[in-house]
Amino acid sequence: MIALKGAPVSAKMKDEIDEQKKALSGPAPKLGIVRVGERPDDLSYERGALKRMEKLGLAAESFVFPQDISHEAFEKEFLAINEDPAIDGILLLRPLPKQIDEDKITRLIDPEKDLDGISPTNIAKVFSGDETGFAPCTAEAVIEVLKAYGIPIAGKRAVVVGRSMVVGRPLAMLLLKENATVTICHTKTRDLPEVCREGEILIAAAGKAKMLDKSFAGEDAVVIDVGINVDKEGNLCGDVDYDSLEGTASMATPVPGGVGAVTTSVLAKHLVRAAAKRRG
Ligand code: NDP
Repeated sequence: MIALKGAPVSAKMKDEIDEQKKALSGPAPKLGIVRVGERPDDLSYERGALKRMEKLGLAAESFVFPQDISHEAFEKEFLAINEDPAIDGILLLRPLPKQIDEDKITRLIDPEKDLDGISPTNIAKVFSGDETGFAPCTAEAVIEVLKAYGIPIAGKRAVVVGRSMVVGRPLAMLLLKENATVTICHTKTRDLPEVCREGEILIAAAGKAKMLDKSFAGEDAVVIDVGINVDKEGNLCGDVDYDSLEGTASMATPVPGGVGAVTTSVLAKHLVRAAAKRRG
């Protein structure tokens, strides 16, 4: 079984991002990361994003607010960042604390700065197959991995386990745009292993540690694991029991070191595109 590692995909993307950056005038494109509270997941993503921006010569600033900030106070701060001409793109770390109306904030974000595709405008574009918007970075990272390894998508049967608006659903739409025949699975799907085995491309985005073992993988399937979980021993693991796939799947992404390693590169790509658009 071939390991589809994320690092070579990110390296390839770096070359493309460097090229696009060269064509830009003015200061380095700047990312604004908006974080409320100190959730370990958010801190880890933020660290990864800051590191990637630095590596690519892109600017970034974190805007951090206390966990108990009121909706009104947060909205005011958020709008100031949203309207700041020095900020080319925004990454809002979610979920936000309960007292903040997250839906309202996603409706306020400028679609042209919305690098992670959370605004209604960008969601609609992803669902209508319009490539002028921004898709959620993780969903797009899966497509980047498949393309970078030359895995054909058109005409293939793709099965996505998970239907969240963050990963499963937008990813299904991106696969459809690439002309795959897509099945979306969820907790009410009957005979899940059987449905999964039909996938020539199987994507796990369920958020359940090592849930998909080899009984879910069809012969020679390409298995993409989006999950980021912690197992009983406290180690990072995906939704797929990677070792069990040997002898069944033809290729699979490891966790860590797979899709997660590409997500921040997609974020950087979106940032440069947003800056290019804003600067005409
Ligand atoms: P959610 O919890 O929002 O959604 C999980 C989805 O999986 C739901 O649609 C749920 O179905 C489905 N599901 C859960 N358990 C089962 C099951 N036993 N059988 C079938 N379907 C199931 O998670 P997210 O979409 O936000 O994230 C998914 C995973 O991706 C997580 O591990 C997360 O950490 C990871 N992630 C990784 C990123 C990266 O950069 N690599 C970024 C973002 C997320 P139902 O709708 O019926 O409840």
